[in-house]
Order: sequence, then structure tokens, then C-alpha cells
Amino acid sequence: MERPLTKNIHPGRPPLNLKDYEMTGGYSALRKIMAGMSPKDVQQAVQDSNLKGRGGAGFNTGMKWSFVPMDEKGGPTKYLIANADEMEPGTFKDRLLLEGNPHQLIEGMIIAAYAIQANISYIFLRWAYKAAAKCLEESIHEAYHAGYLGENILGTGYRLEMYLHTGAGRYMCGEETALLNALEGKRAMPRAKPPFPQVSGLFGKPTIVNNVETLCCIPHIINNGAEWFKSLSYSEDGGTKLYGVSGKVNKPGAWELPMGVTMRELIEEYAGGMKNGYQLKGVLPGGASTDFLTVQHLDLKMDFKSVAAAGSRLGTGTMIVMDDATCPVGFVHNLQHFFAQESCGWCTPCREGLPWVEKLLLSLEKGTGTEEDIDLLQQHTQWLGPGNTFCALAPGAMEPLQSALKYFRDDFDRHVKEKKCPYHHNHH
Ligand code: NAD
Repeated sequence: MERPLTKNIHPGRPPLNLKDYEMTGGYSALRKIMAGMSPKDVQQAVQDSNLKGRGGAGFNTGMKWSFVPMDEKGGPTKYLIANADEMEPGTFKDRLLLEGNPHQLIEGMIIAAYAIQANISYIFLRWAYKAAAKCLEESIHEAYHAGYLGENILGTGYRLEMYLHTGAGRYMCGEETALLNALEGKRAMPRAKPPFPQVSGLFGKPTIVNNVETLCCIPHIINNGAEWFKSLSYSEDGGTKLYGVSGKVNKPGAWELPMGVTMRELIEEYAGGMKNGYQLKGVLPGGASTDFLTVQHLDLKMDFKSVAAAGSRLGTGTMIVMDDATCPVGFVHNLQHFFAQESCGWCTPCREGLPWVEKLLLSLEKGTGTEEDIDLLQQHTQWLGPGNTFCALAPGAMEPLQSALKYFRDDFDRHVKEKKCPYHHNHH
């Protein structure tokens, strides 16, 4: 089984420096494109590979790049941004790539920037990722020194600058348009789309924002070709995927596996199954802002299309397993507390609705909730749903809530009937 993104990463050991990276074939993809691939050729290779965005939304990467207006001569300033603001609860896959092999990301970024003919690039890094900040800083410096960044890259005349920008610790900054505002020195509030950043992004210029894992795939696609990339996958989405499992499993962790492995393989094989005494009750397949799946979905292939067909989303591919000793109402309350706290307050449904949802759930959990409160929660999943807000934060927050109401409705009702949390004795 091939693991192109992580085969040279050994957690616990220091990250690969420039020499280590070059010894594993690093920067050969950059040399290859500089020796004879046009920006359009690079775009085409990525489009043919069927790489879908790994930040969570699964938008076709090559197609996204193709929306950038290309002028043969000069053209407007363009930007390439690596979204490294990994803050989705339960998600820690990009951290592995950042701390393990920073040059892989940098090479992917240079190739992506070349493909859209951007001359300025940024890594927007999660505030809390201190170790990653240090090794990125050093690696960018090394890449400049080696002539992979700066003026006249590899003697071709192509120029690219790269800057590391750390966020201030808000979930909102990972939303691509809020990220752009933050980079411009404004409050991190989302912008209306359209216009999409590919046309009007940072400082109003064409901008591509790609996730870290997405960009790390790029050198491998260039080196080995689109067909090879597609052949890595068990599904129609190309490539491997960094999957993760957390919760009361024996071996929580993250693994690079063919796109489309089943949930059962992930939980039972890679994560070593549930801990003794615990049963699987629900699974959030890709971070907190995805719909619950349950035991009936264990044989589901974990690719974008299959998970969507089952009523959820692959999201970041890092699943959170909920066990039978955990109260679903308390669990969802905990998530809504996070989302309410992280709302940027720009649009009313999100700013006012999320704290209200949080209160209703807390009241149920304390045993003071009513059946009407449950109806009200149900209504909120509509009011805060897609189309009613500026960005995906509140609709994402409604996904675990609406699916908890669907699969675990009995648990909500019991809180009302018994006037207490029926799981309370299970709290450790
Ligand atoms: P989205 O589907 O709106 O957009 C995804 C990407 O495709 C964006 O770059 C967007 O510009 C582009 N795009 C979408 N439609 C387009 C169109 N019609 N024309 C041109 N470009 C288009 O999703 P989003 O709001 O960017 O992201 C939501 C996702 O983020 C969720 O799936 C969620 O799981 C994930 N997420 C991830 C993290 C994390 O830490 N990795 C945190 C929060 C949320």
C-alpha cells in the first residue's frame, strides 16, 4: 500500500530538513515542471488526477485552479494561500504533515503558485501550532537559500515569495474569505460568495486557498502522473487520504490510506476497536461539523460521494467516535458550546441562534427541558441551515444536532420524561 504523503514521516522524530527531503526525491517535481511544463499543463495534470479538496468540502482542486483568470503577459497580482488553520474539533491530520515534512507542503505550494502564476504566497497557520511554526519558518528559509523561492527560481525567471502568517486562535479564520480578511488586517468575518476568491480574493486579486493536505498531494501527482494518483484510491476520488479516529477506541490516531476505505476498517483495524466495555453508538465522520452516522454505516466507504449518499459528509476525514456511555445530548451540547463561542457575530442567525441552541441543550441536560424545547431545536436546524447564513459555520454546527435528533431522539425524550440526564451515573 502506497503512502506518498506520510511514508517519510516518523512521528516523534524531527521533521525532514531540506537535505533529508531532497534525498527522498524532494523538489524533483518542481524541477520537472520548471524543465518543461506550462502552467496549463500543471493545471491539467491536477484536474486529471481527480484530487478533491482535503479541507473538508471536497471541491475539485484542478477545477478551482482553472477559475483563476490567466493572462499571458504579467497580468494582475495573484496569490496562493495554504490554509493551515486546522481547528475543526477532532482534526489533527495537517499537523502531522506540517510537523513531519514541511518541505512537502512548500514544494506543493510553489507548484500550485506556478500553475496559477502567482508571485506571492502565504501559509496561514493555526495559532496553537507552535512546533509547526518553528519548522515552517526554518524550512522557508532553507528553500529561499536553495533557490526554490525568491527571484528567478531554478534559473527560469519565475519569482515566488512565501510568508508564514499565524492566526490569533479563532476557528473562523479557517473559513477562506474570513482568512482573507484576517490577512488583510481586518476582523475575520466571512465575505459573501460570489465573487469567489479565485476571481476576487486577497486585496481583491485572484487568489487560491488550498488546504495543507491538498497541497501536499501536488508534488506526487506531478512526479507520478494523474493515472497513478487515481489508482491509489478505492473510489472515484483520486489519491490517498489522511484519516483519523478519536474517542473511546483502543488506538486513536491518524493514518494515510487509500481514499474509500470503510469505516469498519478504520475503527476496527486501524483504531483497534472500541475499548473494553464500550459500544459504538455514533460516528461523526469528519470533524464536529458533519452529521452523525451509526453502526448501520460501518461498511460505508469513506469517500466524498459515499458519505454524502449516507446523509453526512466526509469532511476532514478525521472521525469522532461516540460510545454508548456518553450522553448524546451532553455530547452535542459540548459541540454547540464550541460553535456558539466561535461564531464571529457577523450574521444574525449564527450570532443569536447558536447561543440559543446551546441554552436549550443545557436545559435538557439539566433535566429542566420540555418537549417544546426539542421541537425548537429541530426548528433551529432549519433556521441556521444552509442558505440562511454568510458561511458554513452555523450550517455545519446544525449537522451533528439534526442527525442526533434523528438517530438519538429517544435520548432527548428521556431527558424530558425523567427530568434528568439518564447517563449521569456514567459520567467519569
Ligand atoms: P465550499 O463548498 O463553499 O467551498 C469549498 C471550496 O470550493 C472553496 O475554496 C470555494 O471557493 C470553492 N467553491 C465552491 N463552490 C464554488 C463555485 N461555485 N465556484 C467557484 N468556487 C467554488 O465550502 P467551505 O465553506 O469553503 O468549507 C466548508 C468545509 O470546511 C466543510 O466541509 C467543513 O467540514 C470544513 N472545515 C474544515 C476545517 C478544518 O480545520 N480543516 C474547519 C472547519 C470547517
